[in-house]
Amino acid sequence: MLRRIVFLDSGDTLIDESTEVRDARGIVQTAAPVPGAPELLAGLRQAGYRVAMVADGEAESFENMYSLLKLDQYFEERVYSSDVGEEKPSPRMFQTAMDRMGLHDSDKPRILMMGNNLKRDIVGANRFGITSVLLDWSPRYPMRPESQEETPDFVVHSPEELLSLLRRIEKE
Ligand SMILES: [Mg+2]
Repeated sequence: MLRRIVFLDSGDTLIDESTEVRDARGIVQTAAPVPGAPELLAGLRQAGYRVAMVADGEAESFENMYSLLKLDQYFEERVYSSDVGEEKPSPRMFQTAMDRMGLHDSDKPRILMMGNNLKRDIVGANRFGITSVLLDWSPRYPMRPESQEETPDFVVHSPEELLSLLRRIEKE
């Protein structure tokens, strides 16, 4: 069995964007998780998956949110656009995660990216040649693909659903 490697978006995938409290500089100070996101992260760890965050935003915001929620421990790597200098769908975001994890092009069929944003997460993953999973939980984003490259390989409705999806596709 080929074990999947999981890349996760943050905003409206793991963190509920509507709960973000920002300071005068726009840096997020606190936020609440999307329901089920902590359980997803714990479940991925328990099952032994390698997990990276691939997220657009300021490193300082992510450090604040994830340390406060004690969710920072669940990621092997966290790739932020403020460090990379480009945002999704840029391939540099995904390539940076692969490089930091010591992954090669031959590992791409094992990598799965889950996010809420068709134009960033799904287009980015599809163009990069990894499996794309849309989490359509957020009411704040369009969820209807407008082109082939916005079309996800899979759709889940809650974070924890990714665990059963992984079990299902790894059996195939
Ligand atoms: Mg997002």
